[in-house]
Amino acid sequence: MNESNTAIQAVGLVKDYGSGDGVVHALRGVDVAFAKGEFTAIMGPSGSGKSTLMHTLAGLDRATSGRILFEGDDLTRMNDRQLTLLRRGKIGFIFQSFNLLPMFTAEANILMPLTLAGAKADRAWFDLLVDTLGLRRRLGHRPAEMSGGQQQRVAIARALITKPSLVFADEPTGNLDSVSSAETLAFLKRSVDELGQTIIMVTHDAVAASYADRAIVFADGRIVADEPHPTADRMNLLLMEERRAALAAESLPASIEPPTPPKRARAAHAAARHTR
Ligand code: ADP
Repeated sequence: MNESNTAIQAVGLVKDYGSGDGVVHALRGVDVAFAKGEFTAIMGPSGSGKSTLMHTLAGLDRATSGRILFEGDDLTRMNDRQLTLLRRGKIGFIFQSFNLLPMFTAEANILMPLTLAGAKADRAWFDLLVDTLGLRRRLGHRPAEMSGGQQQRVAIARALITKPSLVFADEPTGNLDSVSSAETLAFLKRSVDELGQTIIMVTHDAVAASYADRAIVFADGRIVADEPHPTADRMNLLLMEERRAALAAESLPASIEPPTPPKRARAAHAAARHTR
């Protein structure tokens, strides 16, 4: 990947939480580049560093060492004000919990990032997003009057309204039923293919990852697999291999379940469910 093709790149990215005996190595020297106009899924067990990678790439969390190159700048050298301005103008976020403002209509929620910045909407872009996401008839509705899938589509429109070059999605289908989930993922894929967005999505769901152009598997703060054109079966296989390797590293027979924290158990259950 040459530099002009790269949307964002991490070089030797390290993130430690705490210090001394209690230090947690959340990222252990991650080298990864994300191409412009590509949809990447990040998978891996709970606690493997997925959120930490996303938060440090987005400048929401400070790296311990390493560099983050975004449009010619090193994010790790920016002060808080520069990071805030960068996020406001160039980075969009889609969360599992939608984070819509309950007192405002769908239209006001979509336009909120522009309203806060005192900027005017590009009406043609607003119309394209609203129509592509099938939200035209919902514009006057408040979040409580919409389904989960509709709320997530409003949140996607809000993330894209400022035309960010980079969009981070954190389990965007985590709260959706399977139909709404498929709709949401299909739109994210379309926005990459037709609108040229770069999307980096954290997900526990191998089916969700199969909509991406590329899937990265994390384990213990490192990238352990990097899969072009992922399928759900292939991702489940990689996740199960990773789980077996983790069990072997703990020196336990694979047939014995170690005590797992609830988040990790859920991820494994979700991975297993999709293979049936
Ligand atoms: P994932 O998103 O894959 O579940 P995280 O990036 O949230 O993993 O966490 C990676 C590791 O860093 C875990 O061991 C987690 O407990 C630890 N961690 C994450 N955030 C913090 C924090 N604010 N303080 C201390 N440890 C943290």
